[in-house]
Amino acid sequence: MTKTKLLQIGDITDRMRDALSPSFDIDVLFAQGDRAAFLAAHGADYPAILTNGHWGVPEDVAAATPNLKVVSSYGVGYDGIDADAYAARGIKVAHTPDVLNDEVADTFVMLWLAVSRQLIPSDRHARSGKWESEGNFPLTRSVQNRRVGILGLGRIGQTIADRCAAFGADIHYHSRTPKDVPYTYHDSALGCAAAVEVLVAITPGGPSTKHMVNAEVLEALGPDGFFINVARGSVCDEAALVKALQDGKIAGAGLDVFEEEPKIPDALKTMDNVVLTPHVASGTHETRQAMGDLVVANLKQWLDDGSVKTPVPECRHL
Ligand code: NDP
Repeated sequence: MTKTKLLQIGDITDRMRDALSPSFDIDVLFAQGDRAAFLAAHGADYPAILTNGHWGVPEDVAAATPNLKVVSSYGVGYDGIDADAYAARGIKVAHTPDVLNDEVADTFVMLWLAVSRQLIPSDRHARSGKWESEGNFPLTRSVQNRRVGILGLGRIGQTIADRCAAFGADIHYHSRTPKDVPYTYHDSALGCAAAVEVLVAITPGGPSTKHMVNAEVLEALGPDGFFINVARGSVCDEAALVKALQDGKIAGAGLDVFEEEPKIPDALKTMDNVVLTPHVASGTHETRQAMGDLVVANLKQWLDDGSVKTPVPECRHL
């Protein structure tokens, strides 16, 4: 049987490779020495691309793959893939929605509790012997009965809202359109921030949400407010966030994503009221396996009948 050529961008697991290998002839973009020469010579051979939310489909790859038919992305966010342009050409783009909702919502809870209850400094106090030499750790802020604002009440945003119910939260949200939910809607991020004590970003990245959380929004959140970003680094103006933290305009932040990943501004690394994780919101064995299985299922279904299991919204009509 002739295998279908698949261009792999970014890492995949052994399980994914084993599942795909019988049907696909996989070439790894980043293993090619001269990328430009490789793409010029072989780009037209690929009807299929496997990528992830970090790499998307870079412009040079998009330009060099005129015979592309399907893109299967390992992640739910696809701001690095021009889905509108691909849809216009009849190319199917698939992603991995829903299977990561719980993990990302758990990451929000983890960051919120860690920053509010000062987990990292408190752990340091315990380990360093300061408890013995200097006495008790200072009191922290409770997460109970807070007003929580969710920017982006989609699949993950709703799961975050469900988690927040366990903490007695009063939920506010902002998205492009109001939903049929018993929470308070705000037609702007600013309005939402002004109404709450904890603000979490969980929108897609890309131009429409760039710097949705800016200096004004952070100021509206206020000196007792916490900001948690589990969306994309681009959603928050990072320079404004650093300044807001330095000036005491907000109380603290929990950040899983950054504007220039994997670079993190040095100023953030020195702050005790900031908790940092390196874009790991979906990063457990269980969830990454479920995501990988869906990436494979999308490619296999496309091979079988030309459709994909979980297309991005732009490609659902194809
Ligand atoms: P959904 O598409 O289900 O939800 C997205 C939500 O964002 C919707 O409520 C949507 O509003 C809202 N939204 C989109 N654009 C705008 C805008 N311009 N202004 C205001 N609201 C907007 O996506 P998911 O919940 O599945 O995922 C959300 C994002 O989370 C992903 O795109 C990804 O960027 C991020 N993510 C991050 C991870 C990490 O590792 N940190 C892991 C997984 C996801 P409406 O319904 O009105 O259109």
